[in-house]
Amino acid sequence: MIEELVTPTTATPRRPRPDGPVIVCDNLVRIYKVADLEVVALQGLDLVIDPGEMIAIVGASGSGKSTLLNILGGLDSPTAGRATVAGYDLGRLGRRARTRYRREVVGVIWQQTAQNLLPYLDALENVELPMAFAGSGGRRQRAEELLRLVGLDDRFHHRPEALSGGEQQRVAIAVALANDPAVLLADEPTGELDSTTSAEIFEVLRRINAELGTTIVIVTHDALVSEHVARTVAIRDGRTSSVVLRRTERAHDGEHHVISEEFAVLDRAGRLQLPRAHLDAIGLVDRVRLVLADDHVEIWPAATGAPRPGPGSPPPPAQVVASDRPAAAGVSTGDERYRRPEDRR
Ligand code: ADP
Ligand code: MG
Repeated sequence: MIEELVTPTTATPRRPRPDGPVIVCDNLVRIYKVADLEVVALQGLDLVIDPGEMIAIVGASGSGKSTLLNILGGLDSPTAGRATVAGYDLGRLGRRARTRYRREVVGVIWQQTAQNLLPYLDALENVELPMAFAGSGGRRQRAEELLRLVGLDDRFHHRPEALSGGEQQRVAIAVALANDPAVLLADEPTGELDSTTSAEIFEVLRRINAELGTTIVIVTHDALVSEHVARTVAIRDGRTSSVVLRRTERAHDGEHHVISEEFAVLDRAGRLQLPRAHLDAIGLVDRVRLVLADDHVEIWPAATGAPRPGPGSPPPPAQVVASDRPAAAGVSTGDERYRRPEDRR
């Protein structure tokens, strides 16, 4: 089952996949103004998602997850920076393009189960509604197909009040898929569900990702979600801070092992967020010393003298491996602080 995470699906996606990434956030900024106060919800967020990927975005409450999803969903616009989804530049959408974008290019599932469905329509009618707005034909048949896909064959004529929370979210997924969107966005889709039901919902999303090839972005504060996806991006203070990649590898004994690795994210400007635990462990504050070694960069507390890399030096307190990456070039600027120690005069 885990292999599904790494093996590209053979199921033919319903839509041809565009070349290149389907979602690109470039230095995205969103500032809310409340009276005289400015709240910087996103501060230069970079994120690239390829077609057919299913990723999770995690982060503490207030880190900017919903702000990001609202922008990607076409409900809100960035203050600065750029967000492009399936070729739509979200900062420059006119009213008609925005309506079309929200109706046909993205599907959104919200945490509040009630927000996703109309209470006086049954499951089938709820799924048909977005297709009616788009004026597409064959609605009943497609609605039935989608409800079967999410495992609700026997709930076609139930209204939301007669469905459990998990079933309502399944209908919501079918509604979001009605117009065959390129991207499915889910904001805390399991926030009101118990852990067993949550796992079932993630499983449904995984099946959709595999069978329809829909790109899926799940926002959650539940760190366990990373067990369901190949890539989990963590947001801290409105920026991507780290990423966990999961893959399977075959060991010598022939067994498959899941390998989960956490990386710090290096943005295009060369910025890096060190995990809070690392900062606290060594007492890194304000400024640090960077030492460029042959194949890595060392980060030292500023109070340390001028450390020299190499076998003779004490084990570096924090190491950022940036081997052969552009960052290595980025630090060898003319700035004295960033020179290799042996280059210093
Ligand atoms: P998350 O979904 O990760 O909990 P949000 O994106 O909702 O975080 O919020 C990020 C920050 O922006 C928070 O400090 C929040 O208080 C603020 N914020 C979100 N929406 C608004 C708004 N409409 N007006 C003012 N501030 C907002
Ligand atoms: Mg939120």
